[in-house]
Amino acid sequence: MYGYKGRILYVNLTSKKVEVTNVSDDFYGEYLGGSGVAAKIFLDHYKKGLTYDSEYNPIIIMTGPMAGTPTPSVSRFIISSLSPLTGIWGESNCGGFFASYLKFASFDGIVITGKSENPVYLFASKGKAEIRDASKLWGLDTYKTEEFLKKENGKDVEVISIGPAGENLVPYASVVNRRGHLAGRTGMGVVFGSKKLKAVVVQGNEPVQIAKPSKYKEYLKEIFEVYKENPTMAALKDSGSNSSYDLSLQTGDLPLRNWSKGVWPEGDFLGSVKYKDKILVGIETCYSCPVACKRVVEIKDGPYKIEKGPGPEYETVGEFGGMLQIADIEFIAYVNDIANRMGFDTITAGSTIAFLGDLHENGVIDKSFLHGVDLKFGDKDAVLQTVKSIADRTGIGELVSLGSERIANLIGEKAKDYITTVKGLEAPMHDPRGNFALALGYGLSVRGACHVSSLVFPVSSGFMYFPEIPELTDFGDPCSEKLKPELAVKAEDFGMFFNHSAIWCIFGGAALNATQVVTLFNLVTGFDYSLEDILKRGEKIWYLKRGVDNLFGIESKDDRLPKKLKTPLSEGFTQDLAPNDEKMLSKYYKLRDIDSITGKPSKEKLVSIGLSDLLQLLYEG
Ligand code: SF4
Repeated sequence: MYGYKGRILYVNLTSKKVEVTNVSDDFYGEYLGGSGVAAKIFLDHYKKGLTYDSEYNPIIIMTGPMAGTPTPSVSRFIISSLSPLTGIWGESNCGGFFASYLKFASFDGIVITGKSENPVYLFASKGKAEIRDASKLWGLDTYKTEEFLKKENGKDVEVISIGPAGENLVPYASVVNRRGHLAGRTGMGVVFGSKKLKAVVVQGNEPVQIAKPSKYKEYLKEIFEVYKENPTMAALKDSGSNSSYDLSLQTGDLPLRNWSKGVWPEGDFLGSVKYKDKILVGIETCYSCPVACKRVVEIKDGPYKIEKGPGPEYETVGEFGGMLQIADIEFIAYVNDIANRMGFDTITAGSTIAFLGDLHENGVIDKSFLHGVDLKFGDKDAVLQTVKSIADRTGIGELVSLGSERIANLIGEKAKDYITTVKGLEAPMHDPRGNFALALGYGLSVRGACHVSSLVFPVSSGFMYFPEIPELTDFGDPCSEKLKPELAVKAEDFGMFFNHSAIWCIFGGAALNATQVVTLFNLVTGFDYSLEDILKRGEKIWYLKRGVDNLFGIESKDDRLPKKLKTPLSEGFTQDLAPNDEKMLSKYYKLRDIDSITGKPSKEKLVSIGLSDLLQLLYEG
């Protein structure tokens, strides 16, 4: 088999059974890889009343066909499961080296069910696997866990692990590779913790076969030239994901003070210049990626001293800077270090703290609700005390570890005006008030508010350009509702292929157009797909995930933005602007043939795209 290994490892932690299933070309040809394959496997495991901590809830770790090849920006994998945070489809996407090494170990993916009584880790090497004791590792942070497992198994292994946040079932716990590559969103680390699975270790050297090696080699030379000449790639190499910070601050893309302000003069202190000046000591990359956008930082002394390690990404700078009004890059690097070690998502953590700060400032809650912490915007000590208590869930950490939606439910109606979630997931650091398409991007994202769940944000913000797809090229004024539903449909369909199933990195992948990625995919896999074939399969994968959400109770009312994100600001670049999501959604539902009340795809649509199994579950119980 080309691109794919044709083998998925199935592990049951209750029975300790480990077996390998061979996968056909036809199956991969239909579901492509990554989260397309994961969604199909999840549907096959679906049971009514499934909960995240059930032994039947699978952890699905899947690579795409490109991982392990020399293609730039594709060494990525996804982890899917029922999300402990949102109660719907959970999915998180991670770079680094693990995906390539899983392929070298002779597997495309791993499906883990059951629950262990004692801490364990999974070791997979050369087409075989075993479950090993991890009692000694329980309680260790992700840095120490990886260090220990490399000592035990050799330097040539790749490790993903959870930290204390995952062990203590913080609903937004993450899974970490090489300290700074995180599957951060939707709490996949909690599912590991609930199964007492501390880590997965992979080892191997079996190369990935390429269907058309000489043509691929020639084409790859051209692709590397494209990377060399692309100015966005140069900016990412120079300043990492935070290269967009200054522009985001100026154009109102960066949310401020829990989405309530449009201007923050002190915010200038968090841009590329200060980052380099104060904390940067090196750069790193993912397997076979010439971009090298990962930052290495160190703080040698002072209150925020940290050893050399991964630096904060734009999203973390946005959350602990703009949202919490703290203009100190050393402080943010320190918080990032805690989150990476403990293993939790900085987007949900930062947004939840900002939500509580906003409620406190407006008198909806008092200090006693905050376990005695005087949590305010700009108060570094109070924020740090809060961050430090999340992983072990003590004091205010018990509250913050719930995430904003559960806290809002505790408080009741009064909290609803302050919340920033869609489908239970906190919105990331991009504001739809200056980019109306993003209202659909967030509202319709199958995992809850997310800017990379489809290509709506990368395309509508001008970060990506696909001239071959008219709806992704001509979508009108960013602050008008016109043509945005059409954009959303195609951005979802192509995104299901691009960054979900073939799993191109959203940063490095921005160097390429649609023709280039489809050509690379075909040369590696041997499929001879046109762009239309790819869009058709992407469409099917999108409906599959939407259907899974419907099975867990998602209706059209859940596709709306929270009030906070569509209330116009009285200042700044986006002053007086706000998207009308109702207007865009009514057109969108027609295009998708989705019922505007139940939010379900029609029976006819499901039959026409070959999802009769989903139809039965949705309509016949
Ligand atoms: S662009 Fe950055 S995050 Fe993406 S694959 Fe390359 S180094 Fe990794």
